[in-house]
Parts: sequence; structure tokens; C-alpha cells
Amino acid sequence: MTNLRYRWTCPHCGLEQPAYSEVDAIDGWMDKQVVVCDVDMGGCDQYVVLAPKLTITAKTYKLVEASADDPVAPQPANQQEPQP
Ligand SMILES: [Zn+2]
Repeated sequence: MTNLRYRWTCPHCGLEQPAYSEVDAIDGWMDKQVVVCDVDMGGCDQYVVLAPKLTITAKTYKLVEASADDPVAPQPANQQEPQP
């Protein structure tokens, strides 16, 4: 299990506030929980069911082999100096 901090928005008053849950590191399972919208943070004191769902996205990058003539990574075309 891993502790995860996330933010949720109250469906009654729209206040965004923090929550903490344990997440199963293998399958990403997180338990539902009943919380109270925090009146001390300006919330409405109503009960809310949190049903967190864990999703992870990843950026992808190409591997580019540097040429022997130019051992420094090539600059993008829009950042090159204009040639005289
Ligand atoms: Zn609320």
C-alpha cells in the first residue's frame, strides 16, 4: 500500500479540498470513503462520497542517435541562428 494525496471538489458547494487515501501499488485499487465538506475551509458541511480512481499518463520521447560530425544534440529548426 502507498499513501496518495489528491484533491477533490465538493459536488454541493464547489470547494476544492485535499484528501488522503491508500492505494494498492499493484492494481491501483483505492477504497471509497465518506467525508464531510470542511466547513473550516469555507465548505458546506455536507457528506460526500469520494470514489477515487488512479490513472497515470506518460510522456514519450524519441531516441535519436547523434552523428559523429555533430556530437552535441542538434537544435530544433526554429532555434537555429540564421545563416548569413
Ligand atoms: Zn461543500
